[in-house]
Amino acid sequence: MAQNKNDFINVNNSREKDQVEVMKKIANEAHCPFCLENLRLYHKKPILKEGKFWVITTNQWPYEHTKHHFLLIYKEHATKLTDLETEAGNELFSMIKDLEKEYHFEGGGLAMRFGDTDFSAGTVNHLHVQLVVPDAMAKDFEPVKIKIGLQWEKRK
Ligand SMILES: [Zn+2]
Repeated sequence: MAQNKNDFINVNNSREKDQVEVMKKIANEAHCPFCLENLRLYHKKPILKEGKFWVITTNQWPYEHTKHHFLLIYKEHATKLTDLETEAGNELFSMIKDLEKEYHFEGGGLAMRFGDTDFSAGTVNHLHVQLVVPDAMAKDFEPVKIKIGLQWEKRK
């Protein structure tokens, strides 16, 4: 039985049932699902754009109450902010500006978890940025919540 947490995955932070299943499988493989050579094995959404530092895709398991949920995944394996090339910041902002123009976002939020997944609450420990536009006009709308950090009792 594989552990729920390794260098690449923290199943304890998974949300959806089928996500938990996929993440357990990946944990058994002990490789990083967001490194490009593995991304195509598990990620069923198309790569919308590829830059020098980032690829843009959509979240396979979008947060509840989102209208858009994009992922910008760093192309090299990286887990800490200090792993990022400084120029990658320029490209990131250029890419999210293009997304805003293309999809006419009314508003939303950006989140990038980093480091130890017990602290970040990340499922995949490979730097990625989440761009979330809430479906705020929907009748049953509730605010989109992004968790940072995992309680002691949920760590396995
Ligand atoms: Zn990786």
